[in-house]
Amino acid sequence: MNTHLISLHGGHSGQYCSHARDLLEDIIQRYIELGFKQVGITEHVPPVNDRFLYPDETKLNLTADDLYKRFEAYFQQLTALKKKYAPHIKIFAGMETETCTGYVDHIKQLVSTFQPDYIVGSVHHVDDICFDYSREDYDRALSLFGSYEAMYARYFDLQYGMIKALKPFIIGHFDLIRIHDAGYKKRLLIPGIDQKITRNLRLIKSLNLVLDFNLRPLTRGKKEPYITSSILKTVKEMGIRVVPGDDSHGVNEAGNHVDKAIERLNALGFDTQWPDPAMLG
Ligand SMILES: [Zn+2]
Ligand SMILES: [Zn+2]
Repeated sequence: MNTHLISLHGGHSGQYCSHARDLLEDIIQRYIELGFKQVGITEHVPPVNDRFLYPDETKLNLTADDLYKRFEAYFQQLTALKKKYAPHIKIFAGMETETCTGYVDHIKQLVSTFQPDYIVGSVHHVDDICFDYSREDYDRALSLFGSYEAMYARYFDLQYGMIKALKPFIIGHFDLIRIHDAGYKKRLLIPGIDQKITRNLRLIKSLNLVLDFNLRPLTRGKKEPYITSSILKTVKEMGIRVVPGDDSHGVNEAGNHVDKAIERLNALGFDTQWPDPAMLG
């Protein structure tokens, strides 16, 4: 079982992310200690401009420019660590995207500059409002949209556009929009929302992309990962590939719940011979 341990989304470190902890090298060592043979490190991309700094970055007086430099340092170190630990673990150098205004050119530029092994396509904003950072931000977005349904619809439309524009190898936490919604199970089944979900999954399938089985909610004491079970059922029927992502933000989160997640995917009949990002070309 151990040889199959994998995470393709996570490894955020305190060195390169203001809301994570610990040194990147310590995190890599933790994966090795746990018996991982493959891991994707996917730090957040720097913002398009100062308007889209996260609150923790603003508090530290960081600018988009500072974060770009920090991101350069991240890639440099990750490339060195990839070589250093090659006998023990295969490290993929990745990045996690954003969808704020101006993101398409910005991300394409980053991809051409840094040549990552792959990218994780994530949506953390609806109409440039970050909804996943805190409960307050989520409620603010919700009041602007006027209803959960309108906010969910916008999220899945933005996600559709992002997948089309960037074709990310991994789709990050597919149903993240439900993060602070206790009634999400019924919300995701509203016909108008369900249609958008199916549309997005069809696009993912046609592009042969992979869904992140995102385990961060479990680390936060929630019951189920992203993707929720009702969507996971459709994903299975459509034959879309799913790979665990711990979305870790520190040494003590690295690799958490991955063994259980693999058991669960196995039990549901998913292929756990993981696709190799290096095969993308
Ligand atoms: Zn993060
Ligand atoms: Zn994310």
